[in-house]
Amino acid sequence: MKKIYEDLVAIPGAPSFEHHVKKYMKKELTKYTDDIIEDKLGSVFGVLNRNSHGPKVMLAGHMDEVGAMVKGITEKGLIKMKGLGGMKPEVFLSQHMIIYTDDLEEIPGVTASKPPHLTRGDKSQKALKDFDDLLLDIGADSKEHAQELGVKIGQQIVARHTYTPTKDGKKFISKAWDNRFGSAMALDIMETLKDETLPCSLYAGATVQEEVGLRGASTATALVDPDIFLAVDCSPCTDSFDDDEVGGKLDGGFLLRFYDPSAIMHKGMKKHFEALAEKHNIKFQYYQSKGGTDAARAQLHGDGVIVATIGMPARYIHSTTSMIHENDYNAVKEMVLTVIRSMDTKTYEEIRSNV
Ligand SMILES: [Zn+2]
Repeated sequence: MKKIYEDLVAIPGAPSFEHHVKKYMKKELTKYTDDIIEDKLGSVFGVLNRNSHGPKVMLAGHMDEVGAMVKGITEKGLIKMKGLGGMKPEVFLSQHMIIYTDDLEEIPGVTASKPPHLTRGDKSQKALKDFDDLLLDIGADSKEHAQELGVKIGQQIVARHTYTPTKDGKKFISKAWDNRFGSAMALDIMETLKDETLPCSLYAGATVQEEVGLRGASTATALVDPDIFLAVDCSPCTDSFDDDEVGGKLDGGFLLRFYDPSAIMHKGMKKHFEALAEKHNIKFQYYQSKGGTDAARAQLHGDGVIVATIGMPARYIHSTTSMIHENDYNAVKEMVLTVIRSMDTKTYEEIRSNV
């Protein structure tokens, strides 16, 4: 995989703290186009072929990752956290997390958990109910000491960066695959298509604040006003726990998300995707999710937008680290390219008529 993927997962970017990710995205986008647009929440997109008579295609990752904010400091110098995004507290026990100051200075810490020695025989032990009940220990001796070390209310906290290829070199373990993967994919696609004659105009980039309720998807879609919206996002796999035909597995190809609670795949798009994947021999798996992506919000823009999510299978997302497979990366990239190259006016009208 290209270096942009490794670079992007390392940058901290909890919801509403995407500015350093965005800076990187903008710098890369300028290599492929002079036409760059931004919404007022922070979403950023590069444009190719703006004056095309074909449909307007929007390709979006999201720049934020699950994380937290500093919401207080105890007298003993422990940090109280406000979680940002869907986080299970038990997943975040004894984890390396870092508070970032505005100029990216790192204040490392570990989330406090009781070892078995302290809980043995204690029947009153209650399970943690909420991520916000966790404390982050940065080694401060007191509240004043934590302040001296640079901690302030409202700073962002994210997992320590941990990019690591597995021994076979085919899988990659890292924080923030959800969804620096989609953000990097937008750059990857721009690089591939920058000199190609396209049948459509292309707006490729990434939104903000997806993890706290698809907020950037609203503002970015209003900015672009697309005909077609493609979300590229990491979705959780069930394959290391059980065999579910539509639960997602590593090395199974891209996820064709036919159903989630906030978006049912457009019939015309589903048919088009199936035909394209078969014709171009791109591996895919049908996928059902319990969560939504930016596509759910984008479909409700204006009088409706035809949307689809091209999913990247990922194990253990919404934790401090997760795993993806190189072969799935290739399938996702191939599918995104194939869909964009296919999107002329005739195809768009055909898809559109199939509702
Ligand atoms: Zn995501």
